[in-house]
This record gives sequence, structure tokens and C-alpha cells, in this order.
Amino acid sequence: MKFNTKVIHGNQQHDPSTGAVMTPIFQTSTFAQSSPGKHKGYEYSRAANPTRTALENAFAAIENGTNGFAFSSGLAATDCVLRLLNPNDEIIAGDDLYGGTYRMFTKLFSKYGLKFTFVDMNNPENVANAITNKTKLIWLETPTNPLLKVADIKAITSIANKNNIMSVVDNTFATPYIQKPLDMGATIVMHSATKYLGGHSDVVMGALMVKDKELAEKIHFIQFAGGAIAGPMDSFLALRGVKTLAIRMQRHCENGMQVAQFLANHPKVATVYYPGLKSHINYKIAKKQMADFGGMLSFKLKDDSQTAAFKLLENLEVFTLAESLGGVESLANHPSTMTHASIPEPERLKIGITESLIRLSVGIEDITDLIGDLKRVLEMI
Ligand SMILES: *Cc1c(COP(=O)(O)O)cnc(C)c1O
Repeated sequence: MKFNTKVIHGNQQHDPSTGAVMTPIFQTSTFAQSSPGKHKGYEYSRAANPTRTALENAFAAIENGTNGFAFSSGLAATDCVLRLLNPNDEIIAGDDLYGGTYRMFTKLFSKYGLKFTFVDMNNPENVANAITNKTKLIWLETPTNPLLKVADIKAITSIANKNNIMSVVDNTFATPYIQKPLDMGATIVMHSATKYLGGHSDVVMGALMVKDKELAEKIHFIQFAGGAIAGPMDSFLALRGVKTLAIRMQRHCENGMQVAQFLANHPKVATVYYPGLKSHINYKIAKKQMADFGGMLSFKLKDDSQTAAFKLLENLEVFTLAESLGGVESLANHPSTMTHASIPEPERLKIGITESLIRLSVGIEDITDLIGDLKRVLEMI
């Protein structure tokens, strides 16, 4: 089955009890038993719920995994992965992770005896050099937020596999429309399904996908015992979202490229960060491992001031100034005061998150309106 078909039909069946074409919202906490322990596969919705099962099957299908899991948020999915580990285990992670992932690693799990080493994943050798006999997990996010750095998934997961280390790829920005990390050697794929998988900015959810039944059992146990599950209504919304993932991503990528090219040629713009532009530092690896380049991009103004950035952001009409990304509507964000405000200023400037850096989640609106909006506000500064 091709990807365009898989997003709609992958591992799906019509509701066996009624023939309903779309899996209904089974808004129930518990299921009747005919005799103690005798039931139709469902007992209690923390363990499993048919709407969530349908979504989890879709998650598995789109990432070419054997099993998928739906959590109450992206971070709940990350939390589940870390619970596979034991005190004194070591984790190697990229040095410009999603801020919430970094916060969970350093503020929540460090105190339970997990040790995190952060390396620049642009060079896979940095990963190899950081491995010790206690390393149990490599955490990779590509492209990164907000500067869209791209790391070589095959090179890094093959280092992990040679050393019998699990590898996780946070595939939130790219989605399986663009890259399928399990096929490239990763042990686990993680998503904030809040973003492109859900796709409509109406749900907070996380996903894990694996291709190994034994690991799937361990994850299911943690999901059940830890309790951070996705509810039936949210599962229904995300399942509806997944069905249009391919067609949405096609438009996100087309619009993303056009907006990137428009900005790159604008006299008031200093730099555009988009992996599909030849000027991007990781263009070569991006071109090799990504089927397309997505709808996320960032840019800096020649006037690298907060005043200029704020004026631009306050006057946008089609783009909405808001955190988050991956929905059908275009969003703009000011990393240094919004999504990345918790990073201390010197550190932030060192990474390249300067005062005028603006991150765009390019939606699926008409490209003329998107470019028109940006053109108008750029003329105002
Ligand atoms: C949003 C996001 C997360 C966290 O997901 P939530 O659903 O907000 O908990 C993790 N990784 C990336 C890349 C994200 O963009």
C-alpha cells in the first residue's frame, strides 16, 4: 500500500459491531463482561479503548511499524520512552532539542539517576565519541527547532545499532510523509501528534511507533501502568487528522518552499533557515534523506532587533501569532520571547536565536495570501 492510501486505510477496519465506516468515539471508561474475565477484548479504557486502538493501528501503519501508541501529549510519549531505562543508564541527545524535551531530561529524569550527554548531531562522530558502556539510548530530533538543522538518521542509528543501543527519532517536524526513521534503522519513532499528525490545532497528543513486538509489550505496559493515555474523543480527532496527512503535507511543503524562496530574495531579510534551500548548512543531507522539506522555516531580519520583529508579528493578518505548529493555519512565533524564552540569553544567542528570529509554521492557505501578508508587513519595518 502506498503512503497516500495508508494514511486513510492502513490497519483500519469498519466498526465490526455496526459497520460504521469511521471508527466511532467509544466514550466509555469500562466494558461489560459476560462472566468474570470473559469479554470482547476490552476491559477498561486505560488498558485499551477501540477508538484509541484504531488510531494506534493507523500510527503503526504510517511509520511502517508493527505497533503504535497514543499518549496524552508528546511529552507523555517521551516520558514513556525514558521509563524503559534504569538508574545509571546514559542517554546521548542532540544539543538543540525541543525545549520541553530538554527540560524533561534535565529537570525531571536527571534526579532519578539517568545521565544525559548533549552533542552536536551534525557530525555523527560526536555521537560515536560520546558512547560509554552505560549508554542505553540515543535521542535524535531532525529537523530541529527553530533553526531546522538536519542530522544524518542512517549514520547515527547505525552507530546505535552496532553498539546495541536503542535510538529514538522525534519525527514531529518531518512526519512520515517526508522520512520514515524505522525504515532507516531507528528503534522508536516519537511524535508530538499535537502538530502535523493531528493537523488541526485541536488536540494535544503524543505517539510512539516501534517495529519490535517485544519492545511494544514493554511500552504497552508502561502506557497502561503509567496511565498517560489519549482519550477517545482526542483519538477520534487525531485519526481524522491522519487521514489527510499526505495531502496536507504536500501543500505544506509546496507553500513552505515558496515562502522560503520569497523571504530569501527579500532585501529586508538577512537569513532564511529552510532545509530545502541550497544555502542551508545541511542541504546535502536533507536532500538525501528527506522526500520533501516540510512547512517549517525560520528567518532573521537585517534589522536584528526585537522592535522590528515585534512590528512585523503584530501586523500579520493571515498568519496568527501563536506557539505550536503543524496545523492547517499558518502561525508565526518569536522564539526568543515565546517558545525558547526559558533558555538563558547568552546560550540563546550562541545557538543563533537572536532578537529578530521569527519561526513560521506555513499552513495550507492560498500561497498568494501568505506571501501577500509577509510582503505587506516587511514593507512596514
Ligand atoms: C511540540 C513538540 C514536542 C512536545 O509535544 P507536546 O504535544 O506539546 O507535549 C516534542 N517535540 C517537538 C519537536 C515538538 O514540536
